[in-house]
Amino acid sequence: MSTPEQAPARSEPGPQTAIADAASRAGADGTEPLVSVRGLVKHFPITRGIIFQRRIGAVQAVDDVSFEVQRGETLGIVGESGCGKSTTARLIVRLLEATEGEVRFDGRDITHVKGAELKAIRREMQIVFQDPYSSLNPRKTVGSIIGEPFAIHRLHRDRAERKQVVQELMKTVGLNPEHYNRYPHEFSGGQRQRIGVARSLALQPRLLIADEPVSALDVSIQAQVLNLLREMQERLGLTLIFIAHDLSVVRHMCDRVAVMYLGKVVEIGSGDALYGFPRHPYTGALLAAVPVADPDTHGSERRLLSGDVPSPAFPPAGCRFHTRCPKAQEICKEKEPPLEDKGSGTRTACHFPLTREEVVATGVRTAQ
Ligand code: SF4
Repeated sequence: MSTPEQAPARSEPGPQTAIADAASRAGADGTEPLVSVRGLVKHFPITRGIIFQRRIGAVQAVDDVSFEVQRGETLGIVGESGCGKSTTARLIVRLLEATEGEVRFDGRDITHVKGAELKAIRREMQIVFQDPYSSLNPRKTVGSIIGEPFAIHRLHRDRAERKQVVQELMKTVGLNPEHYNRYPHEFSGGQRQRIGVARSLALQPRLLIADEPVSALDVSIQAQVLNLLREMQERLGLTLIFIAHDLSVVRHMCDRVAVMYLGKVVEIGSGDALYGFPRHPYTGALLAAVPVADPDTHGSERRLLSGDVPSPAFPPAGCRFHTRCPKAQEICKEKEPPLEDKGSGTRTACHFPLTREEVVATGVRTAQ
C-alpha cells in the first residue's frame, strides 16, 4: 500500500523543459495551443512497512515531459509498455495528480483545479480507453452507458430527449440506434469501442485522448475504429492525442508524433520528418521493427531492439536509452542529452543522432 503522495518542492526545469519556452507555446498563427504540457513529472512512491510506512523510492513514470498540441491537430504518443504514455494522458485529463509541472488547456493552468472547475474542464476533454471489454459496465445498457455523461453533468434531463440524443450519437459512430437497450456483451469488440467513442463524444469535447484504442481489437477491426476516429475528428473539429505502442498505427493518423522512452520524450516532430528521417536510435529501432508487406524486402536484415526496458524505479543515469543503444558512448552514461533541433525537422534527445546511412542500415524502409 502506498501513502498519499507528497509533491516535492519544485526543482529547476530540466533540459526538456528549457526548450518549451513561450515562443514554442504559441501556435504557428500566434494563437496559444489547445494543450500545453511543461515539465510534467509523475512519481509513484514505493513504500515499505505495514503500520508505519516509509518511502523507499519512487517509480518515475513521467519525468520532465514538455509538448504542445495545436487546435485541430493530432499528436501521436508512441513507445513501449511502461514508457509513461498512458500516465501522461491521465495527467492531462486530470485523472492523476502531477508531482511537478504544468498542464495548460486553452491557455489556462489546470494542473491543480478542483471541484466544480475540474468538472467543467472534464466536459472539454474526454478519453477513450484501451480495453473496450473492461471500460464498459456490463450491468448497464448501451443507452445508459452513452447517456451517463449527461446524467453526471445534468444535461438532457428529459428521458425522451436524452434517448433521442443518445440514439443520434449511436448513429454517428455507426451503431444501430435500435440497440439502445442491449448490453455490452451483445456487441463485438469493435462495436464496444464504438460505444466508448460515442460516450466520449457525448459532451462535445474539444480534446479527445485515444489511449491505445485499437490494441485490444482484431486487426480486421482496427482500421474501422481508426477511420471512425479520423472521421469524428474532421466532422467535429476535435483535437486528438492518439496513444499507441506501434509507430505504424499512428502513421496515417497523426500530424505530429512524440516518441517516449522510460518516462521521457526522446524525439518529437512532424510525421513526415520523423518517419522520413528518424534521428533517435530508439525511433529508428521502433520503425525498423514495423513489418513491411513487400515481397522484395523478404529475407532482408532488420536490426531489432534487444533487451527489456529498465525499471522506471531505477532509471539509468545519463541517457536512459544507453543500456540498449548500439551507439552508446561514455558521455551517454553521464550526461542527459537535451531535446533539441538536429536540423532535420524533429527535436531529438541524443548526443549522436542517426545519420541517413545508419537509418538505411537499421532497416527502416521509410527513409528518403
Ligand atoms: Fe544512444 Fe547516446 Fe543517443 Fe542515448 S545519447 S540514444 S545512448 S547515442
